[in-house]
Amino acid sequence: MAYQNFIGGEWCDSASGETTPSRNPAAPDEVVGEVPRSTAADATAAVDAAAAASGEWAATPGPERGAVLREAGGLLEDRRDDITETLVREEGKTWSEAAGELQRALDIFHYYASKAADVGGEVRASSARERHLYVDREPVGIVSAITPWNYPIAIPAWKLAPALATGNAAVLKPATAGAVTAIELVRCLDDAGFPDGVCNLVTGPGDAVGGVLTTDDRVDAVSFTGSETVGDIVYQAAAPDQKRVQLEMGGKNPTVVMPSADVGEAVDIVGGGAFGTTGQSCTACSRAIVHEDVHGEFLDRIVEYAESLSVGPGIDDPDMGPHVSEAELTGTLDYVDIARNEGATLETGGNRLGDDELADGYFVEPTVFSDVEPDMRIAQEEVFGPILSVVSVESFEDALDVANGVTQGLSASVVTDDLREAHRFVREVEAGVVKTNEKTTGLELHVPFGGMKASSSETYREQGDAGLDFYTISKTVYLN
Ligand code: NAP
Repeated sequence: MAYQNFIGGEWCDSASGETTPSRNPAAPDEVVGEVPRSTAADATAAVDAAAAASGEWAATPGPERGAVLREAGGLLEDRRDDITETLVREEGKTWSEAAGELQRALDIFHYYASKAADVGGEVRASSARERHLYVDREPVGIVSAITPWNYPIAIPAWKLAPALATGNAAVLKPATAGAVTAIELVRCLDDAGFPDGVCNLVTGPGDAVGGVLTTDDRVDAVSFTGSETVGDIVYQAAAPDQKRVQLEMGGKNPTVVMPSADVGEAVDIVGGGAFGTTGQSCTACSRAIVHEDVHGEFLDRIVEYAESLSVGPGIDDPDMGPHVSEAELTGTLDYVDIARNEGATLETGGNRLGDDELADGYFVEPTVFSDVEPDMRIAQEEVFGPILSVVSVESFEDALDVANGVTQGLSASVVTDDLREAHRFVREVEAGVVKTNEKTTGLELHVPFGGMKASSSETYREQGDAGLDFYTISKTVYLN
């Protein structure tokens, strides 16, 4: 099936007339859909449409805006099974993971529908009797949302919903892998009744389309989620002195396991964080930092855990689906070689799955390395696949040093029964999301999300009330 861009309320082909196939990673011969290979001209047309629509939408009362968002959430609910299946077929998620992601997207629309009715600002006490002092919020104007493939409906939702709720016009550029799923989301927005031009979508290459969306003078804010490499390009291109820029990027997320922990519980926490979504989450646990007193038992049991996981097409709802693409699969297998060459011990996994049934798909075994030293590349660089590195440490202080000894700081967890250790970890670990006794993955939508260090631009958070700040400008009013 051929899909189209959505510009100024019209579904249309790219000016190039070209398309790119989006394939099922479990069976790459199957094309899930053809998406437009758009050009800079298409992206400029989308910004034109957003510019024409933004004034009227900004002036629309919040409760009216909220009603359209609520309708969009309702449509996602009505189309739940179809969109879940598209997500499974296009991105490779298991059915349970895809259903969870779809649920998150619709919850986000309902959440910001309520916020839309209530984002007017706040009244403050004034030192002058005659003065009515209040802080108003205004939309920033035109927003570009540039999103990755690994949550192709939830991440567009957590950018578009707060942007539209607060009266901005938006242009979404989803990653090419996962674009069909993002298009299904925008279909719901179209059918929900957003006015023409308020929400636009352009698929296509990051440099051509993303280039316009980060540099066009009329764009007021750029919200980007993706890799550090592209994040740097976006940051430079968008010139943050002229536009608001929000960057959410990768992680090298640790889980520290202390001797007071129940080892079985620690294995479930680490394994769930490492192998869920095939390790393709920005918050996936890629380092287990384990106290030497429990290291041996932990290692035996995490290997057992990895070997017990079923791997297969997401539609059958196994424990783990395929990688999204051949390039991502190759990237993971390259890191297996890198880790071996660095001297780490391969405990289990490390191979592409190649039996008859799975041979064509991008399946890889859940993989565990031990004897990992903190400065090895496998312990420093984001792999974005199901590889867990186990690092042995002598003390809690060493564990903290290793946890913090990377450039990223997105999510971190500690498994301990000692409340003092838990508190100290919360205080001293360098991560924007800190958890105790649960996996590094999984987020609640009403609290801020974002990383520290190279994981994030840090200035603005996403989700919850914090998600509104990026899309609004405050105006302080002294009304006499
Ligand atoms: P990516 O390669 O950085 O791509 C992200 C988006 O940027 C895509 O839409 C891509 O388009 C676009 N892009 C590429 N070049 C561009 C350019 N020159 N200008 C503007 N846009 C450009 O990331 P990915 O592989 O899709 O996603 C995986 C990464 O995302 C991982 O590093 C992961 O940790 C990170 N991530 C972070 C979070 C978080 O919240 N911190 C959440 C999820 C994922 P095309 O792909 O179509 O070229």
